[in-house]
Amino acid sequence: AISSAGGISFDELDDHFMLRKLPGTFAAGEMLDWEAPTGGYLLQASFATGAAAGKGALKWLNL
Ligand SMILES: Cc1cc2nc3c(=O)[nH]c(=O)nc-3n(C[C@H](O)[C@H](O)[C@H](O)COP(=O)(O)OP(=O)(O)OC[C@H]3O[C@@H](n4cnc5c(N)ncnc54)[C@H](O)[C@@H]3O)c2cc1C
Repeated sequence: AISSAGGISFDELDDHFMLRKLPGTFAAGEMLDWEAPTGGYLLQASFATGAAAGKGALKWLNL
């Protein structure tokens, strides 16, 4: 979906994009509560947070 207001607050995530209240569940991209400018940055942010969350999941699984 195109960027919209709302989503998961950054306060609810640890440094690896894992939900503090639901360990083992990770969030990225439009799941997050961001207010981004248009013009390409949403895809960049989706890729970046997706990569970070993926690394977080590997760390969580000790892989
Ligand atoms: C018309 C339009 C133009 C845009 N143009 C740009 C642009 O030029 N530059 C830019 O940076 N950004 C643009 N954006 C925004 C950008 O596309 C989004 O911010 C980005 O794609 C979000 O990625 P995401 O992975 O978070 O979410 P999504 O791309 O929405 O991916 C979510 C995925 O989850 C799947 N899904 C949903 N529910 C379930 C379920 N229950 N089980 C399994 N899978 C499920 C969906 O099918 C989908 O594949 C545009 C958006 C739109 C709508």
